[in-house]
Amino acid sequence: MVPQQPSGLPAPQGHRVSDAAPAQRNRQGHQTPADWRRPGASPFPLRRNPPMDFKLPVELQRLREQIVDIATTKMIPTAKAAGEMHGPNRDIQRILAEVTPHIYPVECGGRLEHRQRSLAICVLREEMSRLCPDADHMFAQQGLCGTAILFGGTDEQKRRFVPAIANMDRLASFAVTEESGSDAGGLKTTAVASGDQWVLNGSKRLISHAGVAGTYVIFASTDPSQRAKGVSAFVVEEGTPGLSGKLMNFMVPYVVGELELADCHIPRDNILGQPGEGFRWAMQTLDVFRAAVGAHSVGFAQGALDLALDYAQRRELTKHQAIQAKLAEMATEIQAARLMVWQAAWLKDEGQDRQASMACAMAKMYASEMAVRVVNKGVQIMGGDGLNTRYFMQRYYREVRGTTIYEGTSEIQRYVISRQLLREARPYEGP
Ligand SMILES: Cc1cc2nc3c(=O)[nH]c(=O)nc-3n(C[C@H](O)[C@H](O)[C@H](O)COP(=O)(O)OP(=O)(O)OC[C@H]3O[C@@H](n4cnc5c(N)ncnc54)[C@H](O)[C@@H]3O)c2cc1C
Repeated sequence: MVPQQPSGLPAPQGHRVSDAAPAQRNRQGHQTPADWRRPGASPFPLRRNPPMDFKLPVELQRLREQIVDIATTKMIPTAKAAGEMHGPNRDIQRILAEVTPHIYPVECGGRLEHRQRSLAICVLREEMSRLCPDADHMFAQQGLCGTAILFGGTDEQKRRFVPAIANMDRLASFAVTEESGSDAGGLKTTAVASGDQWVLNGSKRLISHAGVAGTYVIFASTDPSQRAKGVSAFVVEEGTPGLSGKLMNFMVPYVVGELELADCHIPRDNILGQPGEGFRWAMQTLDVFRAAVGAHSVGFAQGALDLALDYAQRRELTKHQAIQAKLAEMATEIQAARLMVWQAAWLKDEGQDRQASMACAMAKMYASEMAVRVVNKGVQIMGGDGLNTRYFMQRYYREVRGTTIYEGTSEIQRYVISRQLLREARPYEGP
């Protein structure tokens, strides 16, 4: 008798039902090749590459449970008690000391012991955005600034600057934007070598943690004629004479402002890498954080869906097909975006930088625009209560708008994606 798989199809030769081995998992929780010998499993065991697996690795599932617990028991009550502040919430900063070390390596004062750093950042940001956006905004700045140092810094610089960022002793800031806006090659802030120092001059706008950070990574031009290739990255510490900042006002309690650099002298060895390499560190950092803005957007959208669903059921609005359809569309779009985000982060963690750049831009663009649509539907489902400050929906609505702007607007993501598409275009081979 030909052995049958549960599907009813004959088992392929060499993979008889009686050969079935118990499921095995490696340390990351991925199925190992032996797993594929189970009845009904793929007849094509993968010997070298891990099988496609849409589950998070066990470490990250655990991290997700931890962050949900910290957010619900500590962050939400703390943020609620403070209300919407104009300035950093130092209590949230203290709570984040339990979270941020998870994205920094042990030798930099953190607790990261696996290779899936970008994915870990995405998991944390999705849950914090859903439950406590104030914490997520602060966490993102710790990540951006520290990641630029991880990419561009020497071992000595990493040991000197990163631990205080990882353990939340110092707020961090990543300062690119100035009058030239999206055109990061057009920076007017300059850095000029003078003896054993660099002298920075210029002003920046729309900078998170401007004036309240302890550690800044500041991008300035060391050779304006070279545009992007003349941009360099510097670590500047709070208290440096000539460095000042002031916060701006927004419809969301962002801690974002302007930064002034007036004859700001910093040690010569505070440059990350070589002069002219700053744009490279910025782009590598932004790849990670574009996927992460995707996760942050998914978090807002998921929060809006959860709240709208709960609200609609309580008021028996789910009897209307128009409401059911909105809920179905919201859930579907969220799932699509989350998978794009995870794949983009995974590519970055695998070191597949070329594919990662495009995937991160796609994930950021799609997830942020998706979240704007989904949160808008969430408001609509709740009617007037969607705008009532008694519910969190209005906060998601205010929050979500920024996601298509910061860390590269949607227009810039389209440019990044189409540039790579055009560069790699092949002649059409179909009919
Ligand atoms: C809440 C918040 C926090 C931020 N935090 C930081 C931070 O910590 N550090 C930092 O460096 N920056 C930060 N930014 C700045 C952010 O990255 C910029 O807002 C963003 O890059 C866009 O720049 P801009 O606002 O000057 O818009 P502009 O570049 O002036 O763009 C205006 C419009 O023109 C479009 N446009 C511009 N150039 C092109 C082009 N070449 N092709 C097509 N369309 C184009 C844009 O897409 C947009 O629609 C933050 C912004 C916000 C809102």
